[in-house]
Amino acid sequence: MPVSVPRAAARRAAAVGLPLAGAALAHVGPAATWLPAVRGRLTPGLAGVGHPRHVALTFDDGPDPVSTPRFLDALDGLGVRATFFVLGDAVVRHPEVVRETVRQGHEVAVHGWSHDRPWLPAPARDVRALRRAVEAVRDVTGVTPRWYRPPYGILTSGRWAAARAAGLRPVLWTAWGRDWTATATPASVRATVEADLRGGGTVLLHDTDRTAAPGCWRASLGALPGLVAGRRAAGLTVGPLAEHGTAAAVPATAPPLPDGPAAVPDPQAPGRGRRP
Ligand SMILES: [Zn+2]
Repeated sequence: MPVSVPRAAARRAAAVGLPLAGAALAHVGPAATWLPAVRGRLTPGLAGVGHPRHVALTFDDGPDPVSTPRFLDALDGLGVRATFFVLGDAVVRHPEVVRETVRQGHEVAVHGWSHDRPWLPAPARDVRALRRAVEAVRDVTGVTPRWYRPPYGILTSGRWAAARAAGLRPVLWTAWGRDWTATATPASVRATVEADLRGGGTVLLHDTDRTAAPGCWRASLGALPGLVAGRRAAGLTVGPLAEHGTAAAVPATAPPLPDGPAAVPDPQAPGRGRRP
């Protein structure tokens, strides 16, 4: 799918004399072509494939003082724990939400410091951002996060290296609910997830509308009971990545992809609405 470059990034690149299109495409180019060639090269651990009788439930983009507590209540009612990929800049604004998330037994992981796209390589900045996010989670919760999922799923080689430097393991997902659109409903989210979900899969949803259509988190919230019941009826356990059995499958080095990006499974690249 097409990768468009925002005007601000173009101005920045022009200011430092970079041939933007070339630099950006060499860096994130495979984002446009990840399906299915790139995705097929992901290791099971990176793709979020774990134990075949387990399904990992993950939420991106929080914490959100309005919506995240609703998810915590719903998960509590369902008796399910999940993994929340949080943004560092929101962790420091809403520490009480993150603390409550951990207090209720959920796992907190790192989605980044802010929800930005890696248009141009910035390895030093990537390391600083992830270390800062790790420290924010640790300061607020006392727990050191294990996992990293980059915004938009764009895992460049620089962000891979930054994750390793920050002590994080990159993990993506196998099924999502397209819950970022204004037209998403509980039924559409459930059906979209179930179209790709198998035992051992990792589900990506969002516990906030921070970077999505206002209020769209309600669709995911409404989908949860059915999604959990459906998995349980199939004899599967739903839980956090910590219980997914992927740790040993995640390699210590980037997968062998050419030209920079380690893996770029951003399904919905810019222009398709929203993203993880
Ligand atoms: Zn995201």
